Amino acid sequence: MPYQVPRGTVDVLPEEARRWQAVEDVFRDVCRRFGYGEIRTPIFEQTELFARSVGETTDIVQKEMYTFTDRGGRSLTLRPEGTAPVVRAYIEHKLYASPDLPVKLCYLGPMFRYERPQSGRQRQFHQFGVEAIGSDTPVLDAEVIALGWTFLRTLGLHDVTLTLNSVGCPVCRPAYRAALVDYVRPHREELCEDCRSRLDQNPLRILDCKIDGDTPLVEAAPKITEHLCDACRDHHAALKTELTRLGIPFVEDAHLVRGLDYYTRTVFEFVAEGLGAQNTVLAGGRYNGLVKELGGPDQPGIGFALGVERLLLLLKAQGASLGTHPELQAFVIAFGAGEARKLPLLMRLREAGVCADADYSGRGIKAQLKAANRRGARYALIVGDDEAQTGTVTVKDLVAGGQQTVSEAELVNAMRDFLRP
Ligand code: ATP
Ligand code: MG
Repeated sequence: MPYQVPRGTVDVLPEEARRWQAVEDVFRDVCRRFGYGEIRTPIFEQTELFARSVGETTDIVQKEMYTFTDRGGRSLTLRPEGTAPVVRAYIEHKLYASPDLPVKLCYLGPMFRYERPQSGRQRQFHQFGVEAIGSDTPVLDAEVIALGWTFLRTLGLHDVTLTLNSVGCPVCRPAYRAALVDYVRPHREELCEDCRSRLDQNPLRILDCKIDGDTPLVEAAPKITEHLCDACRDHHAALKTELTRLGIPFVEDAHLVRGLDYYTRTVFEFVAEGLGAQNTVLAGGRYNGLVKELGGPDQPGIGFALGVERLLLLLKAQGASLGTHPELQAFVIAFGAGEARKLPLLMRLREAGVCADADYSGRGIKAQLKAANRRGARYALIVGDDEAQTGTVTVKDLVAGGQQTVSEAELVNAMRDFLRP
């Protein structure tokens, strides 16, 4: 095989694509009901946009971006995540001037990260996401979480746990950061290599390190929720009250910090049973400094992104049925003088809403009938020499048996009758 799909990417074949379409339909429907309008931004952006927003010291910017120089000498990057592009568009199109804030947006599409591929981790993967920009009320945090919750519930997903934390704000985080560094620094030699550099650059990331995160040392680290300023503490308490009102269960996790620098206050994840190591299916949080950081007014925002591949793995593991095979309703079998009628008949049926197909191999009638059965067709529509001469079609019921002759002019109406449930 001279050519193969690039490492970390996959082809989605029609049977699997039907499952994709089914979850996309549910996501679009839930977003519509919650008042989130779809936004579509480019697949690549200026590199600086991600360096600035996601953060220079994050894994994404340091080692995961697909960055290239175009023929005009510009540095561009395939988007590794959706929030920065949405906020860029929000500013560029002055959506912040809306009299009705927040602006509520949703997106779906491919993202690109140079990672070690494994189950639930690819280099081109897909996210569904939402962003609500322009309001700081904790009611909105609850609504965004409720949207994710509703989406997963609508798909029939159980065994998904909402974990919640607050990472504070520029008022309270520096003091917490200092307390954490003071606590960890004497044990620097016990940390993994990544965490040793995190200690100077991004110490909060030590808390959710996949190696050090569960050690007794890190387990006993100071908790950020005990260092929040009054405003952050009130916000966090109000969110928990709202979630309780909605009956959405949550678990507090003081080690949840998320890998992107722009988060403030609320951070959350939906974690699934049965996904192995890649068990976070949906993750998000509030980003109150991001709009300003990217050159817009000082407006707050909140959102989440969900990994579609992980969602589909999870649905498969739970045996959910999704995107069933569309029934092939009519299979046209043409031969001899009837050949010329094949495509016109198919077109008329399809325009009338009938799911219709035919054999294109020029095989004999028996082989074509076999193909119709293999494809699960409900009716075979036969047009041979006799039918062509008399302007008729022989309609053969492949499920119940029996056949009848219908004039071509009446065919669409007859098929509608036959197919009526
Ligand atoms: P992880 O810790 O698993 O690397 P992350 O913190 O990098 O996740 P986010 O940037 O928050 O992930 O992206 C949100 C969601 O997108 C994740 O929870 C996950 O479901 C999905 N996701 C992220 N990276 C990948 C990837 N490389 N392949 C498939 N899905 C991914
Ligand atoms: Mg990651």
